[in-house]
Amino acid sequence: MPHKGTEDSKVIHIGFDDTDSIAGRCTTNLAFKIVSKLKNETGITFIDYPLLVRLNPNIPWKTRGNGAVCLRIKTNHSAQIIEFLLKILRSESDLLNGANPGLAIFEGELIPFPLRQFSRRAMNDVVKIEEAEKLAAQLSVQIFKYGQGLGVIGAMASIGSLLEGDHTYEAIAYRKDEFLGSPRKLDKSKVSKVDINTYPLTFNCFDKIHDRVLIAPHGPDPVFCGIRGEDPQTVISSLHKVMPMEKLEGYMVFRTNQGTNMHLQNELSQSEISTHRAGYIRCVVTKRPVIIRGGHVMFEVSDCSNKKYPVAVYEPTGLGNIASKLLEGDNIDIGVGVSMNTPHSTNILNVEYLSILKIAKEIVNINPLCDKCGKRMKSEGKNKGFQCKICGDKRDSKISVTNPRDIQLGMFFPYSKAHRHLTKPLHRFGMEKNYPHVPNIIKALHSEWFKRF
Ligand SMILES: [Zn+2]
Repeated sequence: MPHKGTEDSKVIHIGFDDTDSIAGRCTTNLAFKIVSKLKNETGITFIDYPLLVRLNPNIPWKTRGNGAVCLRIKTNHSAQIIEFLLKILRSESDLLNGANPGLAIFEGELIPFPLRQFSRRAMNDVVKIEEAEKLAAQLSVQIFKYGQGLGVIGAMASIGSLLEGDHTYEAIAYRKDEFLGSPRKLDKSKVSKVDINTYPLTFNCFDKIHDRVLIAPHGPDPVFCGIRGEDPQTVISSLHKVMPMEKLEGYMVFRTNQGTNMHLQNELSQSEISTHRAGYIRCVVTKRPVIIRGGHVMFEVSDCSNKKYPVAVYEPTGLGNIASKLLEGDNIDIGVGVSMNTPHSTNILNVEYLSILKIAKEIVNINPLCDKCGKRMKSEGKNKGFQCKICGDKRDSKISVTNPRDIQLGMFFPYSKAHRHLTKPLHRFGMEKNYPHVPNIIKALHSEWFKRF
């Protein structure tokens, strides 16, 4: 783009979302194309990695992963950049297939607090487009929308998300146009090796239990594969180790909230348990589990307000076995997505993780033993007591005994094949890290964070 201005250097934050559709294309790939162009310009400094921010996974009108992208740059020709962004968003979004792209641009060093709050809500609640627009007007965020413009919500939320707390990285490699739609040929043994050799610095590369490669999607989209991990160096070097024969377009490293359980950080109180929300609930089991067809486990809990909720543990999570051993009175924490249980018009809690905090005693009443003979006494009929059939000794009532429980305290997590983008893998507990945002201080990015082959 022509370098017209004598503008002062300023920080601009660029958020976009919903540029893809079920049929293909992908918001992260658009980010790759935009960065590809901006990296060639002079006078542009990236002040953070491109952010890939996964929002509330329970929103049904999302496309695939509900991921929005934010780019933060310092530049002295923002006007031309905005012009370029508008053009590429229009031409590269999958508008014909139902994409509803939104673009948000904010200028300034500091992200206003209300925008950060908005972003927090977009992680676990349903946010309306009107709210995004109203906030944009209040904070002088420039927004642009196409189609129904739903992408404006994610675009705003991605800007407001500084990912100052726990975060991870993903190196995403993109296919050349001529290969789109053809099967991805990845060497399973290389992926498995990377998975083993980089543990615990990568996650969700390979599912050992089901012998499955987890780094590649299967659809027509331009992502060839993505390696998720704790730092840019590890994801880049791991990506190089699984490079396919197929010529790729390039790759880019995103900083993300994937694998952080960010959507489950807030405790849902009674008034917040509404459809499509996410969070965790501390509760007591009030109806013991039943296993239904398909191996899903259903039970009931109540929270501190004594309101009762049905709970579902779906078979693919692998949590059914432990959930089926719960009993009335057990205290648990569950990370949940709330959905509508349509036939009953009630909300149902779908479990994403299960933490057993306190195990209730299982007390059962059984016939007494005879002191002399050691034999179990027989009932003489209702309210008639019990008698030993050998010596004739009598007792009035049953005795209570405590049954041993085949269950332990602890946290239980889904299989990695059932992981959502935001699901925190077990081994990441204790590996949380920070990325403090300090205005006017630009952190150095890894020199290989972006590559075009
Ligand atoms: Zn006896």
